[in-house]
Amino acid sequence: MLYRISVRTRGRVDFQDITGTVSETIKSSGMQSGICHIFVPHTTAGVTINEHADPSVVEDIMAQLDKMVPQHGGYRHLEGNSPAHIKASLVGSSQTLFVDEGRLVLGTWQGVFLCEFDGPRNRSLLIKIIPDSTHG
Ligand code: ZN
Repeated sequence: MLYRISVRTRGRVDFQDITGTVSETIKSSGMQSGICHIFVPHTTAGVTINEHADPSVVEDIMAQLDKMVPQHGGYRHLEGNSPAHIKASLVGSSQTLFVDEGRLVLGTWQGVFLCEFDGPRNRSLLIKIIPDSTHG
């Protein structure tokens, strides 16, 4: 099953907590055990897993990515958004998660974030839900 979900991002750089959205998608699929693959089909956005109990953590990640990838760096890409492309490659565009007893398996403090680097925009989130094989 492949689900396509719209996510509205709020700032130029914005980490949207999508843990609830992913959990609801799994619940609606009815899958009890298997794999949940998350893919962000964009070149200036990505997906990461990190702490969502303390919002300061993702703020620190965003601030450090800004330092690592300066806004003006003599980039060649004429669209002017090379920092966003570079940050998207640094965080990556997919994550694979386990589902057990119908629930997403995450550490106590972990959450899933859609990482916007060139917003605000409407983004797509693709979620592929793959049940365990019944043949082995
Ligand atoms: Zn571009």
